[in-house]
Amino acid sequence: MKITDITTTLLTIPLTTTFKTALRSVDSVENVLVKVHTDSNLIGFGSAAPTAVITGETVASIVGGIKHIRDNLIDMEVNDVELLFTRLNRCIVGNMSAKAAVDMAVYDLFSKSLDLPLYRLLGGLYSTVETDITISLDSLEKMARESKEKTARGFSILKVKVGGDPDLDIRRLEVIHQAVEENVRIRIDANQGWTAKEAVYVSRELESKNIPIELMEQPVPARDYEGLRFVRENVSMPVYADESVFSPEDALELVRMNAVDGLNIKLMKCGGIYNGLKIAAIAESAGIGCMIGSMMECHVSVTAAAHLAASRSIISKYDLDAPLFCSKNPALGGITYNGSDVCLPEGGGLGIEALIEA
Ligand code: MG
Repeated sequence: MKITDITTTLLTIPLTTTFKTALRSVDSVENVLVKVHTDSNLIGFGSAAPTAVITGETVASIVGGIKHIRDNLIDMEVNDVELLFTRLNRCIVGNMSAKAAVDMAVYDLFSKSLDLPLYRLLGGLYSTVETDITISLDSLEKMARESKEKTARGFSILKVKVGGDPDLDIRRLEVIHQAVEENVRIRIDANQGWTAKEAVYVSRELESKNIPIELMEQPVPARDYEGLRFVRENVSMPVYADESVFSPEDALELVRMNAVDGLNIKLMKCGGIYNGLKIAAIAESAGIGCMIGSMMECHVSVTAAAHLAASRSIISKYDLDAPLFCSKNPALGGITYNGSDVCLPEGGGLGIEALIEA
């Protein structure tokens, strides 16, 4: 089965509510939908969503990157998996989200050709995983109300966006803690919004107020590995890297520096499942934790992330709620949600039968 073409279409999906972090506020998600065409009747599906403030990619750069990747992969055999992914990763530097869209479409094709759901081909550990649900950065009242509403709907893990004024962030977590039941787990994500000392201060204050936090994600700026290590050494809650870890090489460096307790893999940062597997293996070998997340993305790419997540025992935390914020789903098939359970499809490949592009 040879690759004959790789095509893209654009689809903007309005969000059901504004998504706010320390880095950005968005009302819609722009998706680049990808099809990898072959000389068989099989088509591989993928998608990428740009997050310029994190990955440096835009819709235009993703489309341009995929065009370049297409020219390098054309006529290649899908069964030559290692050769194909090596060329995909070497033919262009950076452009991780463009690579991820093509990577997942190739995995889709390869597992479809074997008539296996992708997660089963990769290891087949779980058929459902439990996602957290994000609470956007907002006023105290709004964050408390949303936390209450979402936990009442059955979500038992909150991913609370912080990273503003440290004292206000402590207040945010106080009111959320008061608003939800005792069994609700709270993860916090500062999206690079604090200094290392602020992160330590917040963590200690939360401890003194008996507000349990499952983990703290990306307290300091992405390139501040020393800062991450300082935080890790001075707080008791686990510290996870998100924007600090794009590639397997980043993961190795963070491990070498003992800078984190865990890594958050996102396909849009690492270039797809091929590299995501490497990062998971590094985390496992280093004895640290591993989480899978996504940017604000549609069902297609989050389905690919869920397949990776469900295949690896080291990945034990799941932040796969982005499609729940999307007002429409371009995938016929793919993952479905049952409350906080993300259910893997049992069809071949990603389990996506078609893309609805309008
Ligand atoms: Mg994050």
